[in-house]
Amino acid sequence: MAASGSLPLVRLQPQRSKRLLRGHPWVYSNEIEMAPETKALAPGSLVGLVGADGHRLGVALFNPHTLISARLLSRDPDETVDEAFLAARLRRALSIREALFDEPYYRWIHAEADGLPGTVVDRFADTLVLQVNTAGMERLTPMLLDALERVAAPRRIVLRNDSPLRRLEGLEIMTAAVKGQLDDPIEVLENGARYFAHPLEGQKTGWFYDQRENRAWAARLATGARVLDAYSYAGGFGLLAARAGAAEVTLIDRSEAALRLAEAAAEANGVASRCRFVKAEAFAELRRHAAAGERFGLVIADPPAFVKSKRELKQGIKGYRKLARLAAGLVAADGYLVLASCSHLVDAASFAEQVHRGVLDAGRQGRLLRSAGAGPDHPVHTALPESAYLKALFLALD
Ligand code: SAH
Repeated sequence: MAASGSLPLVRLQPQRSKRLLRGHPWVYSNEIEMAPETKALAPGSLVGLVGADGHRLGVALFNPHTLISARLLSRDPDETVDEAFLAARLRRALSIREALFDEPYYRWIHAEADGLPGTVVDRFADTLVLQVNTAGMERLTPMLLDALERVAAPRRIVLRNDSPLRRLEGLEIMTAAVKGQLDDPIEVLENGARYFAHPLEGQKTGWFYDQRENRAWAARLATGARVLDAYSYAGGFGLLAARAGAAEVTLIDRSEAALRLAEAAAEANGVASRCRFVKAEAFAELRRHAAAGERFGLVIADPPAFVKSKRELKQGIKGYRKLARLAAGLVAADGYLVLASCSHLVDAASFAEQVHRGVLDAGRQGRLLRSAGAGPDHPVHTALPESAYLKALFLALD
């Protein structure tokens, strides 16, 4: 790609450089001088950003049709964005993961926080799963693939370009193995357990690495307990609990494919005889257990986002209170409750409030043992604290 000298320039409106200069990585469309030639730039163009006073602010990816119009790639206005540039970003992110994890299973790239806006790379040893959510990174994808090749020489690369976010950027939905072949599920090693994921057919990239630490914590509360893992997916929480010595684990999910992966993992970990897999709608199943008078020493509920848009906030947030009530009602005396939310529109304080109310609704008293987010392979850009979407609360109930 061209050196920055030849890049088209995009000018900010007066007074609009400040946030960028303070470290924020985005410019919104209403902050840009939308001259006709700016508006005509192809979505995903690499541009030079310039303040109203002519101050050069850096190199950015630009889409004239989206609310977030410019995403900063480099604060160096003379940066050359080429394969070597992308490889350097990949290497820096990799060195952080290698410091943190013993085995090559982690989120390698977490978008803005790792200097590659709108880009996710999950690593499963020699299989990489790439998800690109902006027009800018879409245009850089061939170069990014070369950079991944250069840095990691993976056996397989899967493109999971099926996030709904892509539609906002005018991008097509597609999923494919762009290097190597992938027919069967692949192995995931985490917290000493073996799991299975299917990067082509599974949800998101096939695995939710963000809960790694929370799974380990939950497992510490599971020894000897009857455990209920609602929204289990491929068994992330439940199977680790079984490995930690849970007396019995019930995993609930409405996805047959997810439960099949969990079942295979239970076999691989030698805990299948203590696991039950139930294909059901979680709320209905929790109610059924309540009606049957069942109690569990540990209840985990890690649902999909209940709030996916601002419009859904008021209604969706009540879902967490209801879930907390149903789940708390199933916790045995002196047992534990782990609840999570991945709705980025629900902040940590609001989530904690809903959980608090739900526990009270169930007639229970709780004490909060741990309030946590995603693991460190999901770093947060310090100017985008709201991108810390995951919340997990660990409670001991009376
Ligand atoms: N706890 C999992 C991740 C959960 S992702 C882990 O540790 O990896 C959310 C899961 O909820 C998905 O597997 C999805 O199939 C399931 N799901 C979504 N809606 C559901 C519902 N209404 N009832 C049961 N499961 C549901």
